[in-house]
Amino acid sequence: MKMNPQFQLHRLVRPNILALKPYSCARDEFKGTARAMLDANENARITPYNRYPDPLNLDLKERICRVYGFDDPHRVFLGVGSDECIDMVYRVFCRPGMDNVVAMDPSYGMYGVCADINDIEYRAVSLRADFSLDPEAILAACDDRTKAIFLCSPNNPTGNCIPEDVIEEICDRFPGIVVIDQAYGDFCGATLDIVNRQPNVIVMRTFSKAWGHAGIRLGMAFASREIVDLFNKVKYPYNISMLTRHEAESVLDRADTVARIAREIVEARDAMAVELAKLPIVKKIYPSDANFLLIEVTDANAIYRHLSMEDGIVVRNRNTVHLCNGCLRVTIGTDEENDLLINTLKAYGK
Ligand SMILES: *Cc1c(COP(=O)(O)O)cnc(C)c1O
Repeated sequence: MKMNPQFQLHRLVRPNILALKPYSCARDEFKGTARAMLDANENARITPYNRYPDPLNLDLKERICRVYGFDDPHRVFLGVGSDECIDMVYRVFCRPGMDNVVAMDPSYGMYGVCADINDIEYRAVSLRADFSLDPEAILAACDDRTKAIFLCSPNNPTGNCIPEDVIEEICDRFPGIVVIDQAYGDFCGATLDIVNRQPNVIVMRTFSKAWGHAGIRLGMAFASREIVDLFNKVKYPYNISMLTRHEAESVLDRADTVARIAREIVEARDAMAVELAKLPIVKKIYPSDANFLLIEVTDANAIYRHLSMEDGIVVRNRNTVHLCNGCLRVTIGTDEENDLLINTLKAYGK
């Protein structure tokens, strides 16, 4: 592993979190098979969900490691969606009213919302007009109270990946935490390798997109053992429910099918881009590494309104988002949904 010479984890962590003694339950202390479980005031007479779930879910983490080719389940954190993983960065590292984070703009809205909730200054640094990331601009926005940089690759809503060498340069030079949100990484073969090279990196993934399980609320953060231990100490003790774990295990058993479907979605995306390019109302289609297309249209507000009110087709209006003027973000759906969108747009304005 490389060593960013200025990176010192214990100096980044909020002092109250460093000193925190986490909640402990009797089951943490007991090893072995219990003959009677009379410690947690559960109802022993109603099954099968009467027991508290496993606080760490190492079995599930092991299966996640196998699928992602990651070596150590102790270096995986599980959150209630990536959203909890994002919030955890603030709660562990950022002192309210004092610290700041730096993020690319435009990007995923939750980084800013979590900053506001935690009373942390959010420094949005514009991407270039072509949606590429300028590492000098990101680093120039940092000061000695910048605890984390949020990078999103492939980025939402622009759809593009950040080149590996640009990310690596930021990790080499920034002495704080670098979050790499790879929510869409399963659509473009992104790897977790950087976590094994850079001690200050947290890579996030989710079951909400390619895995098709937004409803179970399960997100993953891959990082050093030290960072994962801090996250585990701060999270709610039983954040991942038994139902979520069961459904995650069941979809992990179908990983091959899920990967095949992700490839089909990518093919449908590229076919959709070809069809959209033929329409006079479409001015530009941005290249995408994800399961959506960002398209610039002649009149985003009118088309958005028409699609939702007249046709019951919901897309994301990104017209007011920085650098996305005139743009709609369209998720790749079923073949039927995609055909419906194309045919509706063909008829639009006729
Ligand atoms: C959809 C999305 C997520 C997923 O969040 P969950 O809480 O796991 O559903 C995370 N990051 C980005 C950039 C996203 O677009």
